[in-house]
Amino acid sequence: MTGTHTSRAFHDRPVETVMEALSAPLDGLTSAEAARRLAESGPNRLPEPPRRSPILRFVAHFHNVLIYVLIAAAAVTALLQHWVDTGVILAVVIGNAAIGYIQEGRAEKAMDAIQGMLAPRAAVLRNGRRIGVEATDLVPGDLVLVEAGDRVPADLRVIEARGLRIEEAILTGESVPVDKGATPVAPDASLGDQTSMLFSGTLVAAGAGRGVVTATGPETEIGRVSGMLSSVETLTTPLVAEMDRFARWLTVFILIVAGALLAYGYFVGDLPFGELFMAVVGLSVAAIPEGLPAVLTITLAVGVQAMARRNAIVRRLPAIETLGSVSVICSDKTGTLTRNEMMAASLAAAEHLYSVGGNGYSPEGAVRWREADADPDEHTVLMEFARAAGLCNDAMLHAHEAGWHVEGDPMEGALMALAGKITGEGAEPFSQWTRADAIPFDAAHRYMAVLHHDEEGQACIHVKGAPEAVLALCGNQRAAHGGSEMLDPDHWHHMVESLAASGERVIAVASRSLAGEQSTLGTADLAGQLTMIGLIGLLDPPRKEAIEAVAECHEAGIRVKMITGDHAATARAIAGMIGLKNHDRVLTGADLDGMEDPGLADAAVETDIFARTSPAHKLRLVTALQSRGLTVAMTGDGVNDAPALKRADTGIAMGLKGSEAAKEAAEVVLADDNFASIAAAVREGRTVYDNIKKVISWTLPTNAGEATTIVVALFAGMALPITPVQILWVNLITGITLGLALAFEPSEPGTMRRPPRPRDEPLLTGALVWQIGLVAALVLAAVFGVFSYALDKGYAVALAQTLAMNTLVVLQIFYLFFIRNIYGTSLTWAAVRGTRVIWACVVAVTVAQFAVTYLPPLQAIFGTQSVPLRDGLLVVGIGTVFFALIEIEKQMRLAFRRG
Ligand code: ADP
Ligand code: MG
Repeated sequence: MTGTHTSRAFHDRPVETVMEALSAPLDGLTSAEAARRLAESGPNRLPEPPRRSPILRFVAHFHNVLIYVLIAAAAVTALLQHWVDTGVILAVVIGNAAIGYIQEGRAEKAMDAIQGMLAPRAAVLRNGRRIGVEATDLVPGDLVLVEAGDRVPADLRVIEARGLRIEEAILTGESVPVDKGATPVAPDASLGDQTSMLFSGTLVAAGAGRGVVTATGPETEIGRVSGMLSSVETLTTPLVAEMDRFARWLTVFILIVAGALLAYGYFVGDLPFGELFMAVVGLSVAAIPEGLPAVLTITLAVGVQAMARRNAIVRRLPAIETLGSVSVICSDKTGTLTRNEMMAASLAAAEHLYSVGGNGYSPEGAVRWREADADPDEHTVLMEFARAAGLCNDAMLHAHEAGWHVEGDPMEGALMALAGKITGEGAEPFSQWTRADAIPFDAAHRYMAVLHHDEEGQACIHVKGAPEAVLALCGNQRAAHGGSEMLDPDHWHHMVESLAASGERVIAVASRSLAGEQSTLGTADLAGQLTMIGLIGLLDPPRKEAIEAVAECHEAGIRVKMITGDHAATARAIAGMIGLKNHDRVLTGADLDGMEDPGLADAAVETDIFARTSPAHKLRLVTALQSRGLTVAMTGDGVNDAPALKRADTGIAMGLKGSEAAKEAAEVVLADDNFASIAAAVREGRTVYDNIKKVISWTLPTNAGEATTIVVALFAGMALPITPVQILWVNLITGITLGLALAFEPSEPGTMRRPPRPRDEPLLTGALVWQIGLVAALVLAAVFGVFSYALDKGYAVALAQTLAMNTLVVLQIFYLFFIRNIYGTSLTWAAVRGTRVIWACVVAVTVAQFAVTYLPPLQAIFGTQSVPLRDGLLVVGIGTVFFALIEIEKQMRLAFRRG
């Protein structure tokens, strides 16, 4: 085959030569040929940027102040020949790096899986049919269809273009879109001037076109500019970054305190250097939240995965945080709140109103008039409906075992089925007609027009679109028995209202016959010259899950607003079915245009339904809502929605019907276009935020408790209740288990019954600072209490220390159960039952503690002694009392908040 190795240029050759050179048939490759070429050319994807080697990534985890301190400490203890200490410190160092490495790997894998879910698709002609394939499956010679909002999936030679404008900034740096067309250009034209080529990775800003693939993957222009696309997103959010900075400053602070203590103990307290040094090292390890950043990263990754399972794919991590604080969701109607499984239900002609039967997208069914099947020979207008519906249409119907299925826009699928029902010719009526030109649908002008030649070469225009838009183009209307009569706008407006009131989406169809062989179509051919055929009412039932999700959002203090391009009456009817709050009041795009910004903000807050809006209105609405301090999530699908998606606090794009441009502008992509997935994402967003808070609320107080124990002992000049080596041990073991468990916490029961969290709520609240103090004090009291109780009883210091260490761990376990429920009581069966992760961690820690307490070799290393059963029970008893105290304290605080 020629042409797969395309260092050869195509921009300067006529289309026919290019097609020949690429052995590309006009109706597309066969699937067998495509598969053969794919094997030859390889997948259409850019080589992955090289990853850091595992060894380098492991080593990177040693780059951390605490680790440096520990390594220095290991060196010092080695000099002092305290080999056990050296060994334990090194174990901590390596353990820490290993945990960090494994966690980072898991988080990265989670993110990679998500990236895979966002694989772009392309529309191609194969076996003469338009189908959607993964962009990676494209091969040279494929015929690709592109339209506004797409990313060009490979290098293409333009075959056909309609108003096609491409934004090539990614390649040329030029952000003004370039007009493209099929005409060859000069051989020496630079990339920016090759208007006959579309380059992989560039964005279709407007229009539509068709091109033949000239190069794929690394052979494309973008593939040759190596390293350009290797932007790697770091796994962080503003909150986590803030915690990171906090942890770093805390580390510095603690090291200074530790240094001061060392000096104080040595010079003032006259303590022996070796012991003192180990105590200070223990203090540093206890106090520094070294594991925190890694655990927070895991928390985010778990959240991202949970959202992906609920069909919300997070493109930018900060969205996780913002989602949790969303207070308004502005949603599209069609396909998001409704099922986007359309069916033509009624036809309104000048005189008669017909109803349409049938099932799904099957092109079989009867059109009825007054309870009887309408005979197309008698009702000739039906054939005109069929022509407009079938010709002004880009969708294809395919039969599957499970039923009929649409390739393309569902509404057009429904219209194609309608045409099939009327003509009785199945899924491909009017196949003898050839399309000469078209004006594609655009949400700004709200109609689509096509120019066809029939089998006799007669030219004919068909238009479909929003009734107002189409009526504005009509000069007359079709009379009941053929011929035309004066346009009666009042009749049509009345009919629109009555169809829309039952929730039907209403579109109008019109046509015009032209003399002879006209082969181009412009807006001038439409204005005032069309003949109105009638209205088509389409049913698009609301999604059941959306109704539930809207109710859930209302309970969660989130206002749901519908922003649609559809007619006000349709919007109102659907809003009623969906259960939007304020469903009598509708503002239209025209109403919005008449408002100044301050008035608009009031209206935007009060109104829940916006109809006949264009993408520009979405942007104004987001801005208006934000000006009132609301956190706005906004959905969108079209290329023109990108500015509103970017402006919104959380932009949400539709994964199925959304354009690539919208997806790229959005923070979140919905895999199923379903409103219910937005509600689920909000719930997960709140959960992740809670879990971040829980991880921090567990880590900081337990660290503070451990640290104060050492500090107090040093200052009081007492024997340490827990030896430094034991502190290192506790840190290591709880760090791997308890400290990580909270990252996997499921949502608390009331998560969606709370109002949204204010955006600027600080993480380190007064309540948390208070909790740190309280828990530290209780830990201190318990540890010293047990220690002195044991000494009083005449136990050896080593046994007393073993008891104190176990007390510390038991308190941490109880504290974990406490933290799991920050909004409610921890005293429910569900709370006690915990989760598998929680119990796995508890079991692991318990086993480890038993080992360190009772196994002779470990006793030798950690200086522990076997604890008698009675004292063991005492330790658990202390944990219970501790739990009761902090739980009661929480209940008192919650009571005040509610009161
Ligand atoms: P929605 O918010 O319901 O998705 P759109 O902006 O997609 O609204 O469409 C607005 C209006 O434009 C529709 O109510 C319909 O009348 C008309 N319309 C939508 N899609 C098409 C199309 N493919 N061809 C012609 N008209 C269309
Ligand atoms: Mg739409």
